[in-house]
Amino acid sequence: IEQTAYQNDKLAMLGKISASIAHEIRNPLTSIRGFIQLLRPHLVTLGKDEYARIILTEIDRANDIIYEFLNSSKPSAPETTVISVSSLLKEVVLLTESEALMKGCQIILHTDEEPPTFISVDVKQIKQVILNIIKNALDAIDEREHDDVSGRIEISTQLRDKHVNICISDNGGGMDQNTLNHLFNPFFTTKESGTGLGLSVSYRIIKNHGGSISVDSQVGAGTEFVITFPKLHMPEI
Ligand code: ADP
Repeated sequence: IEQTAYQNDKLAMLGKISASIAHEIRNPLTSIRGFIQLLRPHLVTLGKDEYARIILTEIDRANDIIYEFLNSSKPSAPETTVISVSSLLKEVVLLTESEALMKGCQIILHTDEEPPTFISVDVKQIKQVILNIIKNALDAIDEREHDDVSGRIEISTQLRDKHVNICISDNGGGMDQNTLNHLFNPFFTTKESGTGLGLSVSYRIIKNHGGSISVDSQVGAGTEFVITFPKLHMPEI
């Protein structure tokens, strides 16, 4: 959809207003959280610790939503750096390995492309995207804990003429058609304490990079996300 300059101004203003409201809501939440913690011993005495636990979880959820919202409403122009796909993926896997290990899940990275493939991206933003996808995969694997399958996340790359695909697959619970229809919508979540912002933010980041994202999933079998980026053609040295 084409946007006029007027619409852009309005959107930018709306973004600023909502960001400052979000910011202002954080302060009262912090003091509510503090006072509930002070009250907690009294609630325990009354046998109502469960109430305190729910209040704290819900405050944390509101904070997560605000945090992700503030993150996603920052200026969208990416700060680009040239990086090889394999080193980017290795860095992200390193960040998630301990969480995966704790959940008894294996992360397998297949990226030994020679020569390396380079992309020009905002490294922080793209790491965030891949982290989101891996975290979702870990959650989906958690869901089928009782199934006695060992969790497995595989990350691989496919080189095309002008593009590079990053494929992230998991053998978690998969998604039904309703989830597939809505998963990129802001605030859509099937998790008790989800924000529903991870994939909508990821979608926007990838679009801003001139890339695309697609998903293939089957209930009970698993899910595969494919992110496509324009490949950078390095001059011969
Ligand atoms: P959140 O993780 O907070 O729910 P997301 O936007 O990251 O928000 O994801 C939206 C929804 O997409 C999730 O609640 C889940 O239902 C679904 N989803 C995403 N990734 C996967 C996956 N790998 N396997 C199964 N479901 C997934």
